[in-house]
Amino acid sequence: LAERLEGAWKKLRGQDKISQSNIQEALRDVRRALLEADVNLQVVKAFIADVEEKALGAEVVSGVRPDQQFIKIVYDELVEVMGESNVPLAQAETAPTVVLMAGLQGTGKTTATAKLALHLRKQNRTTLLVATDIYRPAAIDQLLTLGKQIDVPVFELGTDADPVEIARQGIQHAVAIGVDTVIVDTAGRLQIDADMMAELARIKETIQPHETLLVVDAMTGQEAANLTRTFNDEIGITGAILTKLDGDTRGGAALSVRQLSGQPIKFVGVGEKVEALQPFYPDRMASRILGMGDVLTLVERAAEQVDLADAEKMQQKILQAQFDFNDFLKQMRLMKNMGSLGGLLKMIPGVGKISDEQLSKGESQLKSAEAMINSMTAQERVNPDLLAGSPSRRKRVARGSGHDDAAVTKLVGDFSRMRMMMQRMGQGDLTGMPGMGGM
Ligand code: GDP
Ligand code: MG
Repeated sequence: LAERLEGAWKKLRGQDKISQSNIQEALRDVRRALLEADVNLQVVKAFIADVEEKALGAEVVSGVRPDQQFIKIVYDELVEVMGESNVPLAQAETAPTVVLMAGLQGTGKTTATAKLALHLRKQNRTTLLVATDIYRPAAIDQLLTLGKQIDVPVFELGTDADPVEIARQGIQHAVAIGVDTVIVDTAGRLQIDADMMAELARIKETIQPHETLLVVDAMTGQEAANLTRTFNDEIGITGAILTKLDGDTRGGAALSVRQLSGQPIKFVGVGEKVEALQPFYPDRMASRILGMGDVLTLVERAAEQVDLADAEKMQQKILQAQFDFNDFLKQMRLMKNMGSLGGLLKMIPGVGKISDEQLSKGESQLKSAEAMINSMTAQERVNPDLLAGSPSRRKRVARGSGHDDAAVTKLVGDFSRMRMMMQRMGQGDLTGMPGMGGM
Protein backbone atom coordinates (compact mmCIF):
# COMPACT_ATOMS: atom_id res chain seq x y z
CA LEU A 1 0.00 0.00 0.00
CA ALA A 2 2.74 2.39 0.96
CA GLU A 3 4.34 1.74 -2.40
CA ARG A 4 1.12 2.49 -4.25
CA LEU A 5 0.60 5.76 -2.50
CA GLU A 6 4.24 6.59 -2.93
CA GLY A 7 3.58 6.15 -6.65
CA ALA A 8 0.61 8.49 -6.47
CA TRP A 9 2.66 11.16 -4.74
CA LYS A 10 5.50 10.79 -7.20
CA LYS A 11 3.21 11.53 -10.09
CA LEU A 12 2.05 14.70 -8.45
CA ARG A 13 5.54 15.76 -7.54
CA GLY A 14 6.91 18.10 -10.11
CA GLN A 15 3.47 19.51 -10.86
CA ASP A 16 3.20 23.02 -9.56
CA LYS A 17 -0.49 23.12 -8.76
CA ILE A 18 -3.28 20.79 -7.71
CA SER A 19 -5.79 20.69 -10.57
CA GLN A 20 -8.72 18.62 -11.78
CA SER A 21 -6.60 16.94 -14.42
CA ASN A 22 -3.38 16.19 -12.57
CA ILE A 23 -5.20 14.86 -9.56
CA GLN A 24 -7.20 12.15 -11.33
CA GLU A 25 -4.42 9.65 -11.57
CA ALA A 26 -3.35 10.19 -7.98
CA LEU A 27 -6.93 9.78 -6.81
CA ARG A 28 -7.22 6.52 -8.73
CA ASP A 29 -4.11 5.25 -7.00
CA VAL A 30 -5.39 6.24 -3.57
CA ARG A 31 -8.66 4.51 -4.37
CA ARG A 32 -6.91 1.33 -5.41
CA ALA A 33 -4.68 1.50 -2.34
CA LEU A 34 -7.61 1.79 0.04
CA LEU A 35 -9.39 -1.12 -1.63
CA GLU A 36 -6.26 -3.19 -1.21
CA ALA A 37 -6.27 -2.26 2.45
CA ASP A 38 -9.72 -3.88 2.56
CA VAL A 39 -11.70 -0.73 3.01
CA ASN A 40 -15.28 -1.24 1.85
CA LEU A 41 -15.96 -0.07 -1.72
CA GLN A 42 -18.78 2.25 -0.79
CA VAL A 43 -16.65 3.82 1.93
CA VAL A 44 -13.77 4.24 -0.50
CA LYS A 45 -16.02 6.03 -2.99
CA ALA A 46 -17.26 8.49 -0.41
CA PHE A 47 -13.74 9.06 0.84
CA ILE A 48 -12.32 9.71 -2.63
CA ALA A 49 -15.10 12.17 -3.40
CA ASP A 50 -14.30 14.10 -0.22
CA VAL A 51 -10.59 14.14 -0.84
CA GLU A 52 -11.07 15.33 -4.39
CA GLU A 53 -13.27 18.17 -3.29
CA LYS A 54 -10.84 19.22 -0.58
CA ALA A 55 -7.79 18.95 -2.80
CA LEU A 56 -9.32 21.05 -5.53
CA GLY A 57 -10.60 23.62 -3.09
CA ALA A 58 -7.28 23.78 -1.28
CA GLU A 59 -5.49 27.05 -1.46
CA VAL A 60 -2.13 26.42 -3.02
CA VAL A 61 0.44 27.11 -0.36
CA SER A 62 3.49 28.73 -1.82
CA GLY A 63 6.63 26.79 -1.16
CA VAL A 64 4.74 23.52 -0.68
CA ARG A 65 4.94 20.96 -3.41
CA PRO A 66 1.47 19.80 -4.58
CA ASP A 67 2.33 16.16 -3.86
CA GLN A 68 3.08 16.99 -0.24
CA GLN A 69 0.01 19.08 0.05
CA PHE A 70 -2.01 16.25 -1.43
CA ILE A 71 -0.58 13.77 1.07
CA LYS A 72 -1.57 16.05 3.88
CA ILE A 73 -5.10 16.35 2.53
CA VAL A 74 -5.48 12.56 2.23
CA TYR A 75 -4.02 12.03 5.69
CA ASP A 76 -6.12 14.75 7.33
CA GLU A 77 -9.25 13.40 5.70
CA LEU A 78 -8.47 9.88 6.92
CA VAL A 79 -7.98 11.13 10.46
CA GLU A 80 -11.19 13.14 10.27
CA VAL A 81 -13.24 10.24 8.95
CA MET A 82 -11.95 8.05 11.75
CA GLY A 83 -12.98 10.51 14.40
CA GLU A 84 -10.09 12.88 15.06
CA SER A 85 -9.55 12.01 18.69
CA ASN A 86 -9.89 9.07 21.02
CA VAL A 87 -13.29 8.56 22.60
CA PRO A 88 -13.04 6.93 26.03
CA LEU A 89 -15.40 4.33 27.43
CA ALA A 90 -18.65 5.81 28.73
CA GLN A 91 -19.11 6.16 32.45
CA ALA A 92 -22.63 6.23 33.88
CA GLU A 93 -23.55 8.94 36.35
CA THR A 94 -24.82 6.35 38.77
CA ALA A 95 -22.89 3.09 38.95
CA PRO A 96 -22.77 0.56 37.54
CA THR A 97 -21.83 1.45 34.00
CA VAL A 98 -23.14 -1.43 31.87
CA VAL A 99 -21.12 -2.55 28.84
CA LEU A 100 -22.48 -5.12 26.40
CA MET A 101 -20.05 -6.95 24.13
CA ALA A 102 -21.31 -8.01 20.71
CA GLY A 103 -19.79 -9.69 17.69
CA LEU A 104 -19.22 -12.89 15.77
CA GLN A 105 -17.59 -15.96 17.24
CA GLY A 106 -13.82 -15.92 17.42
CA THR A 107 -13.46 -12.17 16.98
CA GLY A 108 -12.06 -11.76 20.47
CA LYS A 109 -15.07 -10.75 22.57
CA THR A 110 -14.19 -12.82 25.61
CA THR A 111 -10.55 -11.78 25.46
CA ALA A 112 -11.56 -8.13 25.02
CA THR A 113 -13.90 -8.40 28.01
CA ALA A 114 -10.97 -9.28 30.26
CA LYS A 115 -8.68 -6.75 28.58
CA LEU A 116 -11.20 -4.01 29.19
CA ALA A 117 -11.53 -4.94 32.87
CA LEU A 118 -7.76 -4.72 33.25
CA HIS A 119 -7.72 -1.38 31.43
CA LEU A 120 -10.42 -0.01 33.73
CA ARG A 121 -8.61 -1.16 36.82
CA LYS A 122 -5.68 1.03 35.81
CA GLN A 123 -8.17 3.90 36.10
CA ASN A 124 -9.25 2.66 39.51
CA ARG A 125 -12.56 1.38 38.18
CA THR A 126 -13.80 -1.93 39.56
CA THR A 127 -15.48 -4.45 37.33
CA LEU A 128 -17.69 -7.52 37.27
CA LEU A 129 -17.61 -9.80 34.24
CA VAL A 130 -20.78 -11.66 33.25
CA ALA A 131 -20.64 -14.91 31.27
CA THR A 132 -23.71 -15.42 29.07
CA ASP A 133 -22.18 -17.63 26.39
CA ILE A 134 -23.82 -20.94 27.27
CA TYR A 135 -23.35 -22.46 23.83
CA ARG A 136 -19.65 -23.00 23.56
CA PRO A 137 -18.68 -25.68 26.10
CA ALA A 138 -15.56 -23.95 27.34
CA ALA A 139 -16.72 -20.35 27.08
CA ILE A 140 -17.64 -19.90 30.74
CA ASP A 141 -14.42 -21.56 31.88
CA GLN A 142 -12.47 -19.27 29.56
CA LEU A 143 -13.92 -16.17 31.21
CA LEU A 144 -13.45 -17.65 34.71
CA THR A 145 -9.80 -18.33 33.94
CA LEU A 146 -9.23 -14.84 32.59
CA GLY A 147 -11.03 -13.35 35.59
CA LYS A 148 -8.80 -15.26 37.97
CA GLN A 149 -5.74 -14.19 36.04
CA ILE A 150 -6.52 -10.49 36.43
CA ASP A 151 -8.25 -10.89 39.78
CA VAL A 152 -11.65 -9.65 38.65
CA PRO A 153 -14.89 -11.40 39.73
CA VAL A 154 -16.95 -13.35 37.17
CA PHE A 155 -20.70 -13.92 37.43
CA GLU A 156 -22.10 -17.12 35.85
CA LEU A 157 -25.06 -19.49 36.26
CA GLY A 158 -23.70 -22.45 34.33
CA THR A 159 -24.77 -23.59 30.89
CA ASP A 160 -28.40 -24.43 31.69
CA ALA A 161 -29.56 -20.91 32.49
CA ASP A 162 -31.11 -18.49 30.01
CA PRO A 163 -28.55 -15.91 28.77
CA VAL A 164 -31.00 -13.06 29.27
CA GLU A 165 -31.59 -14.15 32.85
CA ILE A 166 -27.84 -14.47 33.48
CA ALA A 167 -27.34 -10.93 32.23
CA ARG A 168 -30.19 -9.59 34.37
CA GLN A 169 -28.95 -11.25 37.54
CA GLY A 170 -25.40 -10.24 36.68
CA ILE A 171 -26.34 -6.58 36.84
CA GLN A 172 -28.13 -7.14 40.17
CA HIS A 173 -25.04 -8.85 41.49
CA ALA A 174 -22.87 -5.92 40.36
CA VAL A 175 -25.09 -3.53 42.28
CA ALA A 176 -24.95 -5.82 45.34
CA ILE A 177 -21.16 -6.02 45.41
CA GLY A 178 -20.77 -2.35 44.51
CA VAL A 179 -18.54 -2.45 41.43
CA ASP A 180 -18.72 0.50 39.10
CA THR A 181 -18.67 -1.32 35.75
CA VAL A 182 -20.27 -4.55 34.48
CA ILE A 183 -19.07 -6.07 31.25
CA VAL A 184 -21.45 -8.60 29.74
CA ASP A 185 -19.74 -11.09 27.43
CA THR A 186 -22.08 -12.72 24.93
CA ALA A 187 -22.15 -15.66 22.54
CA GLY A 188 -21.36 -15.23 18.86
CA ARG A 189 -21.93 -17.37 15.79
CA LEU A 190 -19.68 -17.91 12.85
CA GLN A 191 -22.17 -16.08 10.65
CA ILE A 192 -24.72 -13.45 11.42
CA ASP A 193 -27.85 -15.39 12.31
CA ALA A 194 -31.35 -14.46 13.35
CA ASP A 195 -31.33 -16.40 16.65
CA MET A 196 -28.14 -14.77 17.79
CA MET A 197 -29.42 -11.31 16.91
CA ALA A 198 -32.73 -11.93 18.66
CA GLU A 199 -31.01 -13.10 21.83
CA LEU A 200 -28.62 -10.16 21.80
CA ALA A 201 -31.54 -7.79 21.30
CA ARG A 202 -33.33 -9.31 24.32
CA ILE A 203 -30.23 -9.01 26.48
CA LYS A 204 -29.82 -5.40 25.45
CA GLU A 205 -33.48 -4.63 26.10
CA THR A 206 -33.18 -6.19 29.56
CA ILE A 207 -29.97 -4.64 30.81
CA GLN A 208 -30.16 -1.25 29.01
CA PRO A 209 -26.39 -0.91 28.54
CA HIS A 210 -24.56 2.43 28.46
CA GLU A 211 -22.19 1.00 25.89
CA THR A 212 -22.78 -1.65 23.25
CA LEU A 213 -19.40 -2.43 21.77
CA LEU A 214 -19.09 -4.33 18.53
CA VAL A 215 -15.95 -6.45 18.54
CA VAL A 216 -14.55 -6.63 15.02
CA ASP A 217 -11.69 -8.81 13.88
CA ALA A 218 -9.47 -6.53 11.80
CA MET A 219 -8.44 -9.50 9.70
CA THR A 220 -11.95 -9.88 8.27
CA GLY A 221 -11.36 -6.92 5.98
CA GLN A 222 -14.26 -6.25 3.62
CA GLU A 223 -16.63 -8.30 5.77
CA ALA A 224 -16.28 -5.75 8.57
CA ALA A 225 -18.58 -3.44 6.62
CA ASN A 226 -21.54 -5.85 6.41
CA LEU A 227 -21.05 -6.86 9.98
CA THR A 228 -21.09 -3.29 11.19
CA ARG A 229 -24.17 -2.45 9.19
CA THR A 230 -26.13 -5.46 10.42
CA PHE A 231 -25.22 -5.08 14.10
CA ASN A 232 -25.79 -1.37 14.03
CA ASP A 233 -29.17 -1.64 12.30
CA GLU A 234 -30.48 -4.51 14.38
CA ILE A 235 -28.93 -3.93 17.78
CA GLY A 236 -27.53 -0.44 17.75
CA ILE A 237 -23.91 0.02 18.75
CA THR A 238 -22.19 2.87 20.58
CA GLY A 239 -18.66 1.97 19.61
CA ALA A 240 -16.31 -0.77 18.47
CA ILE A 241 -13.19 -2.64 19.45
CA LEU A 242 -10.94 -3.62 16.56
CA THR A 243 -9.02 -6.77 17.44
CA LYS A 244 -6.01 -8.62 16.04
CA LEU A 245 -4.29 -5.52 14.81
CA ASP A 246 -1.04 -7.21 15.76
CA GLY A 247 -1.42 -9.24 12.57
CA ASP A 248 -0.34 -8.00 9.19
CA THR A 249 -3.70 -6.47 8.40
CA ARG A 250 -3.66 -2.96 7.06
CA GLY A 251 -6.53 -1.95 9.26
CA GLY A 252 -8.86 -0.79 6.51
CA ALA A 253 -11.71 -2.16 8.61
CA ALA A 254 -11.29 0.80 10.94
CA LEU A 255 -12.35 3.18 8.20
CA SER A 256 -15.36 1.06 7.23
CA VAL A 257 -16.61 0.56 10.78
CA ARG A 258 -16.42 4.20 11.61
CA GLN A 259 -17.94 5.40 8.37
CA LEU A 260 -20.84 2.95 8.30
CA SER A 261 -21.89 3.13 11.94
CA GLY A 262 -20.96 6.71 12.69
CA GLN A 263 -19.69 5.35 16.00
CA PRO A 264 -16.13 5.57 17.25
CA ILE A 265 -13.66 2.74 17.54
CA LYS A 266 -12.71 2.96 21.17
CA PHE A 267 -10.00 0.35 21.56
CA VAL A 268 -7.74 -1.87 19.53
CA GLY A 269 -6.58 -5.36 20.44
CA VAL A 270 -2.95 -5.96 19.64
CA GLY A 271 -2.27 -9.47 20.94
CA GLU A 272 -3.62 -12.47 22.81
CA LYS A 273 -2.43 -11.34 26.24
CA VAL A 274 -4.79 -9.47 28.56
CA GLU A 275 -2.49 -6.45 28.52
CA ALA A 276 -2.72 -6.17 24.75
CA LEU A 277 -5.39 -3.49 24.54
CA GLN A 278 -4.81 0.11 23.50
CA PRO A 279 -7.03 3.15 23.11
CA PHE A 280 -7.79 3.82 19.45
CA TYR A 281 -6.01 6.84 17.99
CA PRO A 282 -7.31 7.92 14.57
CA ASP A 283 -4.06 9.64 13.61
CA ARG A 284 -2.02 6.52 14.27
CA MET A 285 -4.52 4.43 12.36
CA ALA A 286 -4.38 6.84 9.44
CA SER A 287 -0.63 6.48 9.23
CA ARG A 288 -0.99 2.73 9.43
CA ILE A 289 -3.49 2.64 6.60
CA LEU A 290 -1.27 4.91 4.55
CA GLY A 291 1.86 2.92 5.28
CA MET A 292 3.30 4.15 8.57
CA GLY A 293 6.57 5.95 9.04
CA ASP A 294 7.37 7.07 5.54
CA VAL A 295 4.16 8.89 5.06
CA LEU A 296 4.24 10.45 8.49
CA THR A 297 7.67 11.85 7.79
CA LEU A 298 6.39 13.27 4.53
CA VAL A 299 3.42 14.79 6.27
CA GLU A 300 5.66 16.34 8.88
CA ARG A 301 7.86 17.73 6.18
CA ALA A 302 4.81 19.14 4.44
CA ALA A 303 3.68 20.78 7.68
CA GLU A 304 7.14 22.28 8.04
CA GLN A 305 6.82 23.63 4.53
CA VAL A 306 3.55 25.25 5.47
CA ASP A 307 5.45 27.11 8.19
CA LEU A 308 7.94 28.19 5.60
CA ALA A 309 5.08 29.52 3.52
CA ASP A 310 3.98 31.61 6.51
CA ALA A 311 7.48 32.94 6.69
CA GLU A 312 7.27 33.91 3.05
CA LYS A 313 4.17 35.96 3.74
CA MET A 314 6.12 37.62 6.49
CA GLN A 315 8.87 38.37 4.05
CA GLN A 316 6.35 40.16 1.87
CA LYS A 317 5.46 42.31 4.78
CA ILE A 318 9.09 43.02 5.42
CA LEU A 319 9.62 44.09 1.85
CA GLN A 320 6.66 46.43 2.05
CA ALA A 321 8.12 47.93 5.22
CA GLN A 322 5.02 47.13 7.28
CA PHE A 323 7.09 45.09 9.65
CA ASP A 324 6.56 45.96 13.31
CA PHE A 325 7.52 44.47 16.67
CA ASN A 326 4.46 42.17 16.59
CA ASP A 327 5.67 40.66 13.32
CA PHE A 328 9.10 40.36 14.78
CA LEU A 329 7.67 38.43 17.72
CA LYS A 330 5.58 36.23 15.44
CA GLN A 331 8.61 35.49 13.36
CA MET A 332 10.57 34.51 16.43
CA ARG A 333 7.81 32.13 17.54
CA LEU A 334 7.71 30.66 14.06
CA MET A 335 11.41 30.05 14.28
CA LYS A 336 10.95 28.29 17.57
CA ASN A 337 8.33 26.02 16.00
CA MET A 338 10.72 25.19 13.26
CA GLY A 339 13.34 24.40 15.81
CA SER A 340 16.19 26.49 14.58
CA LEU A 341 17.32 29.91 13.66
CA GLY A 342 19.47 28.44 10.92
CA GLY A 343 16.40 27.11 9.14
CA LEU A 344 14.88 30.53 8.91
CA LEU A 345 18.06 32.34 8.00
CA LYS A 346 18.51 30.01 5.07
CA MET A 347 15.33 31.39 3.57
CA ILE A 348 16.49 34.95 3.69
CA PRO A 349 18.19 35.77 0.42
CA GLY A 350 21.79 36.73 0.68
CA VAL A 351 22.51 35.09 4.01
CA GLY A 352 25.33 32.63 3.69
CA LYS A 353 26.70 29.96 6.00
CA ILE A 354 26.62 30.71 9.69
CA SER A 355 28.63 28.96 12.39
CA ASP A 356 27.00 27.15 15.32
CA GLU A 357 28.61 29.61 17.68
CA GLN A 358 27.12 32.55 15.82
CA LEU A 359 23.78 30.77 15.81
CA SER A 360 23.64 30.13 19.54
CA LYS A 361 24.69 33.70 20.25
CA GLY A 362 21.97 34.82 17.87
CA GLU A 363 19.43 32.65 19.61
CA SER A 364 20.18 34.07 23.05
CA GLN A 365 19.96 37.58 21.64
CA LEU A 366 16.57 36.72 20.23
CA LYS A 367 15.46 35.51 23.63
CA SER A 368 16.39 38.86 25.15
CA ALA A 369 14.65 40.67 22.33
CA GLU A 370 11.51 38.65 22.97
CA ALA A 371 11.53 39.57 26.66
CA MET A 372 11.91 43.26 25.79
CA ILE A 373 9.13 43.20 23.20
CA ASN A 374 6.88 41.50 25.72
CA SER A 375 7.38 44.49 27.99
CA MET A 376 6.29 46.97 25.34
CA THR A 377 2.77 48.37 25.15
CA ALA A 378 0.57 47.44 22.19
CA GLN A 379 1.08 50.90 20.75
CA GLU A 380 4.83 50.73 21.01
CA ARG A 381 4.89 47.40 19.24
CA VAL A 382 2.99 48.71 16.26
CA ASN A 383 4.87 51.99 16.20
CA PRO A 384 8.56 51.48 17.03
CA ASP A 385 9.21 55.21 16.55
CA LEU A 386 7.49 55.89 19.87
CA LEU A 387 10.37 54.13 21.59
CA ALA A 388 13.05 55.69 19.44
CA GLY A 389 11.86 59.13 20.55
CA SER A 390 11.40 58.49 24.27
CA PRO A 391 14.15 57.56 26.77
CA SER A 392 11.54 57.18 29.52
CA ARG A 393 9.59 54.59 27.51
CA ARG A 394 12.83 52.69 26.86
CA LYS A 395 13.66 52.83 30.57
CA ARG A 396 10.26 51.34 31.41
CA VAL A 397 10.75 48.50 28.94
CA ALA A 398 14.23 47.86 30.30
CA ARG A 399 12.98 47.62 33.85
CA GLY A 400 10.03 45.44 32.87
CA SER A 401 12.15 42.93 30.98
CA GLY A 402 15.12 42.80 33.30
CA HIS A 403 17.57 44.36 30.85
CA ASP A 404 19.58 47.56 31.01
CA ASP A 405 18.63 50.73 29.17
CA ALA A 406 21.44 50.30 26.67
CA ALA A 407 20.10 46.91 25.54
CA VAL A 408 16.68 48.38 24.81
CA THR A 409 18.20 51.35 23.01
CA LYS A 410 20.23 48.94 20.89
CA LEU A 411 17.19 46.77 20.07
CA VAL A 412 15.16 49.79 19.03
CA GLY A 413 18.05 51.18 17.00
CA ASP A 414 18.77 47.86 15.27
CA PHE A 415 15.13 47.40 14.55
CA SER A 416 14.77 50.85 12.99
CA ARG A 417 17.86 50.31 10.84
CA MET A 418 16.60 46.90 9.78
CA ARG A 419 13.28 48.39 8.78
CA MET A 420 14.95 51.08 6.80
CA MET A 421 17.08 48.55 5.01
CA MET A 422 14.05 46.39 4.31
CA GLN A 423 12.25 49.37 2.91
CA ARG A 424 15.11 50.12 0.55
CA MET A 425 15.22 46.51 -0.50
CA GLY A 426 11.50 46.58 -1.17
CA GLN A 427 12.03 49.53 -3.46
CA GLY A 428 14.60 47.58 -5.38
CA ASP A 429 17.65 49.25 -3.90
CA LEU A 430 19.94 46.46 -2.82
CA THR A 431 23.05 48.44 -2.04
CA GLY A 432 24.25 47.87 1.45
CA MET A 433 22.54 44.49 1.80
CA PRO A 434 25.12 41.95 2.94
CA GLY A 435 25.96 39.46 0.24
CA MET A 436 23.74 41.09 -2.29
CA GLY A 437 26.39 42.95 -4.19
CA GLY A 438 26.38 40.55 -7.09
CA MET A 439 22.69 40.75 -7.75
P1 GDP B 1 -14.82 -14.71 21.07
O1 GDP B 1 -15.30 -15.96 20.44
O2 GDP B 1 -15.31 -13.52 20.32
O3 GDP B 1 -15.11 -14.61 22.51
O4 GDP B 1 -13.22 -14.70 20.88
P2 GDP B 1 -12.09 -15.03 21.94
O5 GDP B 1 -11.94 -13.95 22.91
O6 GDP B 1 -12.32 -16.40 22.49
O7 GDP B 1 -10.81 -15.03 20.99
C1 GDP B 1 -10.66 -15.88 19.88
C2 GDP B 1 -9.19 -16.05 19.59
O8 GDP B 1 -8.62 -14.85 19.15
C3 GDP B 1 -8.40 -16.48 20.81
O9 GDP B 1 -7.43 -17.42 20.41
C4 GDP B 1 -7.73 -15.19 21.26
O10 GDP B 1 -6.50 -15.42 21.93
C5 GDP B 1 -7.51 -14.52 19.95
N1 GDP B 1 -7.43 -13.05 20.08
C6 GDP B 1 -8.31 -12.21 20.65
N2 GDP B 1 -7.93 -10.91 20.54
C7 GDP B 1 -6.74 -10.94 19.87
C8 GDP B 1 -5.82 -9.92 19.42
O11 GDP B 1 -5.99 -8.71 19.60
N3 GDP B 1 -4.71 -10.36 18.76
C9 GDP B 1 -4.48 -11.69 18.53
N4 GDP B 1 -3.38 -12.00 17.87
N5 GDP B 1 -5.32 -12.64 18.93
C10 GDP B 1 -6.42 -12.30 19.59
MG1 MG C 1 -16.27 -15.78 23.69
